[in-house]
Amino acid sequence: MRHFLLACVALIVAALPARAEPLKVVASFSILGDLVRNVGGSIEVTTLVGPDSDAHVYSPTPADAKKIADAKLIIVNGLGFEGWLPRLVQSSGSKSKLVIASDGIAPLRLGNDADPHAWQSVGNAKVYVGNIRAALSAADPANAERYRANAEAYLAKLDALEREVRDAVAKLPPARRKVISTHNAFGYFAAAYGIEFIAPLGVSTESEPSARDIAKIITQVKQAKIPAVFLENVTDPRLMQRISAETGAKVGGTLYSDGLTGEKGDAPTYIDMVRHNIKALTRALGD
Ligand SMILES: [Zn+2]
Repeated sequence: MRHFLLACVALIVAALPARAEPLKVVASFSILGDLVRNVGGSIEVTTLVGPDSDAHVYSPTPADAKKIADAKLIIVNGLGFEGWLPRLVQSSGSKSKLVIASDGIAPLRLGNDADPHAWQSVGNAKVYVGNIRAALSAADPANAERYRANAEAYLAKLDALEREVRDAVAKLPPARRKVISTHNAFGYFAAAYGIEFIAPLGVSTESEPSARDIAKIITQVKQAKIPAVFLENVTDPRLMQRISAETGAKVGGTLYSDGLTGEKGDAPTYIDMVRHNIKALTRALGD
């Protein structure tokens, strides 16, 4: 009988961590949210900037302040990507721990600033995963082993993804490995995999280009013999279609840079996004 009671106590104690509240984590944008979900498994992850939205020009809402106040961890990209975040954290009165997912990567420059789009290199995404795992384990040590196992399984998928990207680029004729893109978000991808991304001069995602800007871009595409132009999910596609019509460059479709799509879109996860982008590039730049 005594043994039976002890066994009961042991069972109850063992069951306690499973009944505890899941760890609450806020990720600043959709891509990071996906990485956190892959490492966290059954934890509660919410994102501030959702699918199909642009984190560069985001305006936080009162609901965001509530999400942040309730979270144990706030995981952000860093490198100046979430310029709107410090004020939001302050106004929410949150005491959550702030985690910078890009810690430890070698930043590239974009003009005078750090280029924030580090996740576009799969190698960097693996660094993010390591940082996320460490942060979740520190915040919730009881489930550290689960986070380790999840991270390991996901890292294996990212290794396979990176091999796919390298194999696809290797098949492209070297002279055709260049594209023009409206949003200068692929610096890390270019550096890692050897496709040149040329941003049209003087065009930002925050304002529509003038007729003069468009003329400059058309000259640029012709002079550099750029085989393909790409649209992004955060800018007006009519601009690129007009450039394509006047230069004969191929419109390669959409490259996703800063946000995932919804469930039914082309890029509901990070892995889907990278795979979609490399297929679009291969189609436009192949012979
Ligand atoms: Zn961006």
